[in-house]
Amino acid sequence: MIKRFLYNFFRGRNGFDQLALTTWFLAMVFLLISLFGGVVGTVASVLSLAALFCTFFRSLSRNIGKRSAENSRFLSATAGLRRKFQNLKTRVSQGREFKFFTCPTCHTLLRVPRGKGKIQITCRKCGNRFSGKT
Ligand SMILES: [Zn+2]
Repeated sequence: MIKRFLYNFFRGRNGFDQLALTTWFLAMVFLLISLFGGVVGTVASVLSLAALFCTFFRSLSRNIGKRSAENSRFLSATAGLRRKFQNLKTRVSQGREFKFFTCPTCHTLLRVPRGKGKIQITCRKCGNRFSGKT
């Protein structure tokens, strides 16, 4: 019954998208900071409430077109940052078997097996060649 209620409640609404998830996360971070008290704590608690308001306002909004436009703007604005983070995750998880190089021309992350000595690396994106030690 609760499931059905939630289903009906969220039908036709924007729901939790990546931007809502981010504002929710920010709200939690500010909430933690607000525990320290003082002027910083007061400012943080206000920011936390504002972020929480954004999260719920956007999730429950029925203006899905506008909200999804906001979300895609947010995604394209943070694309570089998210790619960097993704690259870092890949490096950490595969760092034992592979050595990673960044193409000096187009900055694409390139993966080469370790232990091959000094090799010529060809960028798979722009075709630039450079040498590296694995
Ligand atoms: Zn390249």
